[in-house]
Amino acid sequence: MRYHDSMKKFDVAIAGGGLIGGAIALELARSGLHVGVFERQEPGQEASWAGAGILSPAPENPGMIPTVPLCKASLELYPKFVAEVEEISGQNAGFRPKGTLEALFSRNAREELSTLIAVHHGLGLKAEAIRAEDARELEPALSEEMEAGILRPDEASVDNRALTKAVLEAARRSGAEIFPDCIVEAICREEGRENRCAGLLLKNGRVEARWTVVAAGCFSPEIRGAERYAPVSPAKGQMIALRADELKIERVLWSERIYLVPRNDGRILAGATIEYVGFDKETTAGSIEKILSAAIELAPGLAGARIEEMWAGLRPDSPDHLPILGPTDLDGLLIATGHFRSGILLAPVTAKLIREWIGEERVSVEWERFSPLRFGTQSTRRTTA
Ligand SMILES: Cc1cc2nc3c(=O)[nH]c(=O)nc-3n(C[C@H](O)[C@H](O)[C@H](O)COP(=O)(O)OP(=O)(O)OC[C@H]3O[C@@H](n4cnc5c(N)ncnc54)[C@H](O)[C@@H]3O)c2cc1C
Repeated sequence: MRYHDSMKKFDVAIAGGGLIGGAIALELARSGLHVGVFERQEPGQEASWAGAGILSPAPENPGMIPTVPLCKASLELYPKFVAEVEEISGQNAGFRPKGTLEALFSRNAREELSTLIAVHHGLGLKAEAIRAEDARELEPALSEEMEAGILRPDEASVDNRALTKAVLEAARRSGAEIFPDCIVEAICREEGRENRCAGLLLKNGRVEARWTVVAAGCFSPEIRGAERYAPVSPAKGQMIALRADELKIERVLWSERIYLVPRNDGRILAGATIEYVGFDKETTAGSIEKILSAAIELAPGLAGARIEEMWAGLRPDSPDHLPILGPTDLDGLLIATGHFRSGILLAPVTAKLIREWIGEERVSVEWERFSPLRFGTQSTRRTTA
């Protein structure tokens, strides 16, 4: 649907039609609000398309520990979220609640294992130490060089491309209006009320809304007026899709260097790099070589796999690598970005939080750590249209 001025009033205007904007639109439309999503290209073609779709609350480094409760809450919401999205959209999202298995290769695997298990249990995450033989019984594709494994039975994966498409369709069917080719230039302040956000300024018009949500991924700071609350930057990730018909992988497999994610259609995704190189989305020989050698180290049978696709996407990373969620000091303006490596996982809880802020002005999950006001910015300057 093309946007034109006669459609300009909404309860909620969302800038960005990725999985985060789509999930918020679905949640809010289902609660009876009139929602407009404004997307500068075809919806769902950026990070939400490029991701691997692993649903794992386990922190990959100590800096990610503050997100664990939020990630756990979102993982718990996933089965119901997917079931509702599939029912409303009539599309399959490729949800695989089969657990994940991490292979340890180091000589000190046993010591490493007990530390890792203790860390998981300390964070309330289910994790079991398993012997290499038992791991290979579960996943025969795993390398014989592995020393030990960690099974996380509650973790899962989803086909994020299929999910994003289904979420956007479900949002549409629930009454949200999604407008492609609509570049959001700025947030608007209300005439005479400087501390109130009144909607969005588009390249081709204006949108009035009681609430405005910025969910434009790593591009959010390009929206004038949002940059102070959403100082995110792109963290590039390169990925490869492989196909090896004779190799069966059931669960997401990890090593220190890589993950492998099986899809229902038989593809095996391998990824991903983390590179801070601006908005570049090229795949490069050096990174692809690293991904392939780590993939073959983890599952040697992949040496004979066909390469079906290679791509790169841009994760929205914040200065402290934590998500940026919630209300700002401008009445009516909320931010939902900075999900970095966990935006597919965090989509359901993000949508829930935004609905709670809008509908009830209080939320059921601890979120202060993620406030858009933590970057020490004051809204004293008029930067918007
Ligand atoms: C290689 C890779 C692997 C990943 N793996 C995982 C994983 O396994 N698990 C996980 O949970 N997460 C993963 N992620 C992270 C996850 O993909 C992101 O955190 C998530 O997709 C962010 O969603 P989003 O909707 O905020 O952003 P996006 O999907 O980038 O959507 C933002 C949208 O806003 C639009 N937009 C931007 N500027 C404007 C504007 N001015 N006006 C209008 N529209 C605008 C864009 O076109 C885009 O469609 C991965 C990411 C990458 C790149």
